[in-house]
Amino acid sequence: MHSGYVALVGRPNVGKSTLMNALIGEKISIVSSRAQTTRNRISGIYTEDRGQIVFVDTPGIHRGEGNLNRYMVETALASLKDVDVVAVLVEATREPGDQEHRIVEAVKASGRPAILVLNKVDVVKPADRLLPVLDAYSRLADFDEMIPVSALTGEGLDRLRELFYARLPEHPPFFPPDQLTEVTERFIAAETIREKIFELLRQEIPYSTAVEIESFDESDPAMLRIAAVVVVEREGQKGIIIGKGGGMMKEIGTRARHELEKFFATRVFLEIFVKVIPNWSKNPAELRRFGYE
Ligand code: GDP
Ligand code: MG
Repeated sequence: MHSGYVALVGRPNVGKSTLMNALIGEKISIVSSRAQTTRNRISGIYTEDRGQIVFVDTPGIHRGEGNLNRYMVETALASLKDVDVVAVLVEATREPGDQEHRIVEAVKASGRPAILVLNKVDVVKPADRLLPVLDAYSRLADFDEMIPVSALTGEGLDRLRELFYARLPEHPPFFPPDQLTEVTERFIAAETIREKIFELLRQEIPYSTAVEIESFDESDPAMLRIAAVVVVEREGQKGIIIGKGGGMMKEIGTRARHELEKFFATRVFLEIFVKVIPNWSKNPAELRRFGYE
């Protein structure tokens, strides 16, 4: 199997998100964008018989307004050095401008194999309008491949996956292939709280405890506000989780908050409520609601 990292770079609006969704399709596995606070953020994972493609977003490189300062160039370069392939996404409808020049320069300097992906080819009419665009890009850099695609119609995407796999090293998947469900920031918050409950109350609390995130408010850049509900099956369990004078609840909240602050790299305001739903773990609808299929 071949597995590795592919950076998807391009200025805003070229269709990065659309392409990613189209490439991954049903197999989407979005990992928290804050999960990797360092150079690269995983934005999607695609797994199949041939292996695994881990798509990463390289934060520094998309900014191109004004002068791309040395720090940003260096950050962008450092992040590109870690990947196996760079896919430079541009619009097939127009010749390269300033932002494309800068991105291509950074990619060249990284020395990584680069594929030029000309997106939105569905709106290039007549088709020979593509020729001057291809010509302009080939004068800009010596790309490994140049491929017209449409993230919208799916044109060219099978071929694009082939081009990626051909450049990935022989390696087993980095992430479990069954990790196909969406792992969202809400899920991570819920799991962290659940983990703290088990850390503190392993003996007393059965596995029929679920955590639901009621709100996950990122509107304040200085403070992430999370409201969570811990669901148990009996009043007695509720009492245990709240503890004497609310002491246990406070301890669960403090531990979870500390961990979430580290994870999300921001201050966190965490509110936890406890709710009894009798026999929820035996009710299929409730099970689905709490993420158990
Ligand atoms: P991003 O900012 O690079 O992530 O770009 P988005 O994926 O958000 O796409 C920006 C816009 O371009 C959206 O309106 C998309 O629907 C549109 N778009 C993306 N890919 C295509 C394509 O292949 N063809 C056409 N016609 N539009 C596209
Ligand atoms: Mg986007």
